[in-house]
Amino acid sequence: MAARRGVAALDRAAGPLIERFLASLCHFCRQIRSRSWMDDLTLAEIVIKDLRKEFGDFTAVQSSSFTIADGEFFMLLGPSGCGKTTTLRMIAGLELPTSGEIYIGGEEVGQKPASQRDIAFVFQMFALYPHMNVRRNIIYPLVSQGMPRAQINRKLDEVARILGIESILDRPVGGLSGGDRQRVALGRAIVRDPKAFMMDEPLGALDAEFRERMAEELRALHDRMGATTVYVTHDQLEAMQMGDKIVVMNHGVVEQFGTPQEIYDKPATMFVADFIGSPSMNFLRFDGTVTEGASRVTLNGADFAVPVQHEAAAGELVLGVRPEHVVLSDSAAYRGEVRAAEYLGTTQIVTLDTPNGEVKARTGAAHAIRPGETVGLDFLPQTLTLFDDTTGRALASDLNAGAFGHG
Ligand code: ATP
Repeated sequence: MAARRGVAALDRAAGPLIERFLASLCHFCRQIRSRSWMDDLTLAEIVIKDLRKEFGDFTAVQSSSFTIADGEFFMLLGPSGCGKTTTLRMIAGLELPTSGEIYIGGEEVGQKPASQRDIAFVFQMFALYPHMNVRRNIIYPLVSQGMPRAQINRKLDEVARILGIESILDRPVGGLSGGDRQRVALGRAIVRDPKAFMMDEPLGALDAEFRERMAEELRALHDRMGATTVYVTHDQLEAMQMGDKIVVMNHGVVEQFGTPQEIYDKPATMFVADFIGSPSMNFLRFDGTVTEGASRVTLNGADFAVPVQHEAAAGELVLGVRPEHVVLSDSAAYRGEVRAAEYLGTTQIVTLDTPNGEVKARTGAAHAIRPGETVGLDFLPQTLTLFDDTTGRALASDLNAGAFGHG
């Protein structure tokens, strides 16, 4: 009896201490989850090293290497079948690599299952549970984790506020618009508070106008939350519009990675130069020689200034010119015949036949151009890229020195 009274007295004395200890532990845990506390740590930096995926004899991804910084909106861009989704699925743990390494927050996770990577996935086809309302769809991952109800409600309120969907929480998902369904799918990803988001063409099923609005919304959402996001798209405009960094892939190979501006202004390959931009870069093919230090090239007898070349090359070469860097000028020695002019309101796209192939020029809409007439063409020198036509690779020059991340 005396012993029991002693224990009870000890309990009474220890109770407040234990309570205080638990309170500070909870506070510590909350701090760990808060982004401001984590800002100095690179918790969700994702590092890909020599990643490779084979399906039988077919290699879907070949030796990819790149780093996604913590908090970055990172685009995997390329044509259908180039290996974007396979790369994303390997990062998420839905596909195991054949070889190579994946680090998330400094931890090697390449062979770990998805459930151990703390990553949320958002697909193109919103995978919602049709028999549940919006609220139950969003909280589903938390209920499955066994999270206490009060905490679930707090998180739900926060996510609904971020996405602006407070008024539809009790609606069945079946009758929602495409945009609202996508918001619910996003809500279900956000509510888990994952280390990183993986998004596979999440706007692909939306019509063009709505797609643009959702793209803006997604980017704004990312800016508010600051969570590392890897986003697959084949749409170069979407990638340029939304991404902090872009990886351009082709046949399982990383062609280039960098900021949208680096990719646009300093393409590492003809594939990248062609894939990015609309209309895409003009390629004027010529047979010639470029020496190291050269700052001019000759095409069909006309002389063009180019950025100082750091690399020599000879044979089949290509002069790459963006349409907005073509200047139509009566005095220019290099001539072309106007085939068509496409009026776009403030600008027009003029298509010309030149001795080195078709060239598209973007000029002011006021410039009077008639099909069939012959005009002179000049190019803005500091914007030009020379390529080796055999390898498709850009020659190093003052323009692109040190710019290429091949992965
Ligand atoms: P898309 O936008 O069309 O999905 P993608 O760039 O995302 O293109 P992936 O889905 O990564 O391309 O596919 C890359 C290549 O790997 C394709 O040729 C595809 O057919 C092939 N592939 C993907 N998954 C498998 C699989 N499980 N078995 C065999 N081949 C596969």
